Amino acid sequence: MIMVDQKKFADVLRTFIFKYTISTIVIVFGMALLLYTLLHFGVSKSLIGKFEDELISRTQSEIVYEADDIRDQLESVKDHTDLLRNQYEKLFNSYENYNTTNLNATFGYHKNGVYYKTSDNGGSSLYYSGKTPLTDYAKKKAVKTEWLDPIMKYVVATDNMVVQSYFNSFDGMNRMYPYQDNIAEIFGPDISISDYNFYFLADEKYNPNRHTVWTPPYYDPSGKGWIISCISPVYRDDFLEGVVGLDVTINHIENHSLYISHLTNTKLFLVDEYGLIIAMNNDAESFLKLTEIDNKIISDSNENILKPDQYNLHYFSDEELQDFMITVFTQSVDNVDFGGESFYVEKQLIQETNWQLISLTNESYVGENIASINKNIIVNAIIICITVLIIIGIIILIYKRKIDSIASNISNPLEEMALNAKYFGVDGRTIRRMPVTGIEEVDMLNRELHIMSKEILSRSQKLVQAQIENRRAEQTIEAYHTEAITDKLTQLYNRRQIDDVINSEVTRSKRYRSMFSVILLDIDYFKEINDKYGHQIGDEILKGVAKTLKASVRDSDIVARWGGDEFVIVAVETGEQDAYHLAEKIRLSIQDTEYFKQLKVTTSIGVAEFNLNKDDARDILRKSDVALYEAKNVGRNHVSAYKEIGENHEHKSD
Ligand code: GH3
Ligand code: MG
Repeated sequence: MIMVDQKKFADVLRTFIFKYTISTIVIVFGMALLLYTLLHFGVSKSLIGKFEDELISRTQSEIVYEADDIRDQLESVKDHTDLLRNQYEKLFNSYENYNTTNLNATFGYHKNGVYYKTSDNGGSSLYYSGKTPLTDYAKKKAVKTEWLDPIMKYVVATDNMVVQSYFNSFDGMNRMYPYQDNIAEIFGPDISISDYNFYFLADEKYNPNRHTVWTPPYYDPSGKGWIISCISPVYRDDFLEGVVGLDVTINHIENHSLYISHLTNTKLFLVDEYGLIIAMNNDAESFLKLTEIDNKIISDSNENILKPDQYNLHYFSDEELQDFMITVFTQSVDNVDFGGESFYVEKQLIQETNWQLISLTNESYVGENIASINKNIIVNAIIICITVLIIIGIIILIYKRKIDSIASNISNPLEEMALNAKYFGVDGRTIRRMPVTGIEEVDMLNRELHIMSKEILSRSQKLVQAQIENRRAEQTIEAYHTEAITDKLTQLYNRRQIDDVINSEVTRSKRYRSMFSVILLDIDYFKEINDKYGHQIGDEILKGVAKTLKASVRDSDIVARWGGDEFVIVAVETGEQDAYHLAEKIRLSIQDTEYFKQLKVTTSIGVAEFNLNKDDARDILRKSDVALYEAKNVGRNHVSAYKEIGENHEHKSD
């Protein structure tokens, strides 16, 4: 036997909706999310390449732009240096044309012996080293060069790279703009200006071609920090009168050119032709683990303070870093690996000074950007995911009640109908008419079941009624039948029934070769009894004889009233001999019985056995009748058996 798990319709519906509807939503949503993520990663993969190209070209153009900018500015500084030099050469070449009157400047001796300009007249400061014997010529020079203060002032004011302009003479005079209040103390009593690079790099020995040149970075003795100077010799014929110079602070270059907002993740270096790092941005500092020397460190010694060798990439202590930086500096490469990372290299030569502006950008920077975009996408995906799940959850909660009510709208009526059907007919119950559910099939089913159950009940009631009537009819028929085959007076079978009995015995006898006999009995002189005692007494005697007969035979034997005062007995399984004895017993029993007030009767009896080889129903009756006639003839109160050869075998008794 197959066991089937029985479930309620409501549960099946609910399970179905949850299983298929919800899982479909989840699958579709999941696929969309997967597609979104795959699509995104596909796009971001191709973006990396584009982003790299974009970054390289952008860095390149920035570097080119900045290098050009630095060059332009340095050129402008150089032009201004040339302008200043020209003015000084003009002064020394036509020295007599410059008078010393009407110049609003006061000079005097400082307590350390230095000759200097004692107050700010809106122009330069002036210093004469104590080493120089102060001649009239020298003092006149201090006054006459006052003529060039406007041009020195102009250069500083118009060129935003320039922090100060100055002229140093061969005999230890320094004219400098802007005005330095305590110049005598800053320079000290006996500075030897010609020992400084901003002087000697322009002299006959270092600069025989008399070019305007740039110094390497050095520490400014007048306190402006790390600076470079553009210097130019001032000649009167072949005599070097001095050197003019314009100072540019490294700080200024850094702030102006190395902190480029577009290149936030890039290391920028400004390197001179000898490999000395002139300036770098913070990224570069931390990459090289080098910090710029603090500008506030002021040395007391009046010497050239140059940038130390640790800032020259040829002298880096870390050999690996040195190799890497030298490769970057000297070779034409786009890409160099260092410390497990790869760097894009961008270089631009600043021809003015033979400096190089170098940028290094981590390749991983691109990856990091993409990774952060990817991370955002994943975070977004998760947020979308959670939001959608919450929405689905809310929808499920809202629809759960709806699903439940729909499910029970169908399930409950079905369940009730099933219960109604179970108890249908018990105590005449019908399948109840339920309230309308609004679901057409359910309502129709209920309506039809209700009508059907009523119909079935009414039909079964009619059926029961019909059965009862049928029964009655059967009983009536049976009664009629009994009446038809019964003699009213004696309650024995009548002649009609005995015909049937004999017919069936004849058939049985022939089939089974069994025997039977017929005994025919007639009351003697019955007419006289009627005449003498009345018809009613006659009837009583007939009833009494019937009783005697019934009592004398076996149950299987049949006793009937043949008509009038005649009776017949069909004795089954009985031969002539036994039938004769039975008849004799009956004759004696009747003869001895008082039927009414000592009134007795006698009977004459004919006995015949059925001959199955020859006889039919009529023969056996005829034979018993012949035997009865014989019994009457011999004087009544006698039993005669039928004889085949026409003679009656007689048993006579008195
Ligand atoms: P027998 O010895 O030759 O038979 O003479 P019997 O007088 O008996 O003559 P039979 O048998 O021919 O007469 C039968 C009589 O039985 C005739 C009739 O008056 C009477 N009889 C027939 N049927 C009934 C009945 O139902 N009731 C009464 N009381 N008498 C009947
Ligand atoms: Mg008679």
